[in-house]
Amino acid sequence: MISTEELLDTIRGDVLLGESMKEHTSLRIGGCADFFVDPLDPDDLCRAISLFESRNLPFTLVGRGTNLLVHDDGVRGAVILTKRALGRHSFKKNTVTAGAGVSLAMLAEKTFSASLGGIEMLQGIPGTLGGAVVMNAGAYGQEIGDVVSWVEVYDQGKSRVIPASDIEFGYRQSSLEDYTVLGSGLKLKKLAGGERDERAGMCRDALEKRAVCQPLFLPNAGSIFRNPVMPGKSHSGLTAGQMIDACGLKGIRRGGAMISDVHANIIINTGDAKAAEVFELICHVKDRVWKMFGVALELEIKLLGYEKTLC
Ligand SMILES: Cc1cc2nc3c(=O)[nH]c(=O)nc-3n(C[C@H](O)[C@H](O)[C@H](O)COP(=O)(O)OP(=O)(O)OC[C@H]3O[C@@H](n4cnc5c(N)ncnc54)[C@H](O)[C@@H]3O)c2cc1C
Repeated sequence: MISTEELLDTIRGDVLLGESMKEHTSLRIGGCADFFVDPLDPDDLCRAISLFESRNLPFTLVGRGTNLLVHDDGVRGAVILTKRALGRHSFKKNTVTAGAGVSLAMLAEKTFSASLGGIEMLQGIPGTLGGAVVMNAGAYGQEIGDVVSWVEVYDQGKSRVIPASDIEFGYRQSSLEDYTVLGSGLKLKKLAGGERDERAGMCRDALEKRAVCQPLFLPNAGSIFRNPVMPGKSHSGLTAGQMIDACGLKGIRRGGAMISDVHANIIINTGDAKAAEVFELICHVKDRVWKMFGVALELEIKLLGYEKTLC
């Protein structure tokens, strides 16, 4: 076992016992993490991981918690936050180097302001670069994997760089899922005047569309289910949201959890929802979509603190 004192002797930053994950997820749901570590810089983060590894204690990196459902009983082992430790970025010509804890929306806005194209459509995604790279986050025709040049990971006690050619990026997934991502290099494209204006209009439209089609001001974790992928195509005819809507499930509730009535693939926390209630809705939706369409929906959100998926 590890004591708080030992952790604080090893790293600079904050170490909390039994911190509620409600404060660290966009759904505002979740029990406590045994250890909650917010390291000061990359070396502190790596030292924390190395200590947890040496004691065989599980740990999970969390960015902004915008794609997470955390169990009501919390998380065994440690949650390590990346926002502060891995929060630096720099530009050199068309290449951006950024830590995994950097806000993706901020980076998308800043690069576009510098007339660099490639991630401008991702301005509405509220997570970190690390979460985005691992999940291959995307929106409105752009995916982060398309511009990743390299990814720095922590692997067996040291950092190493994986070139993009050795990484597989798929629809909302990547081969990086079992890695600790420290940062990434993104190769962007210099935008000329006319092209930039056109992209600016597209970004505006996309952000306006989000404001209309998504419950932006209520706690949620974005799309709950991945859109079904058919061999050789990115999506089947219907999106997950369209299928859930066709089943008449918009607005249904389990306790404080509700299927959004503006976007059927989003579950909102109406105030005091439990993870168990979100999970009940997930199982109900899966069952109804399976019966009506014969499609087995897969989760896009990640479960934290769950031994296995129960439905
Ligand atoms: C309102 C809203 C809108 C959204 N819109 C979109 C959208 O348009 N497109 C889209 O793709 N997603 C969208 N999302 C989902 C989410 O924002 C993205 O998946 C985002 O990339 C997750 O980043 P995060 O930092 O919040 O990750 P977290 O939720 O903190 O973590 C997600 C997963 O990544 C892992 N992870 C995080 N950081 C690291 C790291 N440094 N190294 C290794 N593993 C790590 C975690 O352990 C976890 O398994 C939306 C979410 C919300 C709430």
